[in-house]
Amino acid sequence: MTCPVCRARFRGSAECSRCGADLTMVMTLAASAWKLRQAARRALESGEYRRARELAVRAQEYCATPQGRDLEGLAGWLAAHAGTPVAALTVQ
Ligand SMILES: [Zn+2]
Repeated sequence: MTCPVCRARFRGSAECSRCGADLTMVMTLAASAWKLRQAARRALESGEYRRARELAVRAQEYCATPQGRDLEGLAGWLAAHAGTPVAALTVQ
């Protein structure tokens, strides 16, 4: 992840090492997103795909990442196809 002001790489401190922007809010949001994605993964493991997707969507709102988008896509796909027999998933 990067500084929202200057795009410098985020180094885990509360202040951007390049422009000095206050990154406390960014860190808080990133931590919230991380917790939501952990919960989403647990929901996936227990087969609660719709809940997993909701959590993944909220995580993306807090802090969007490519991996988070994949998680959201996977949960969304599973939510849409859960219960469908594998034989019915024929790709045309
Ligand atoms: Zn910066």
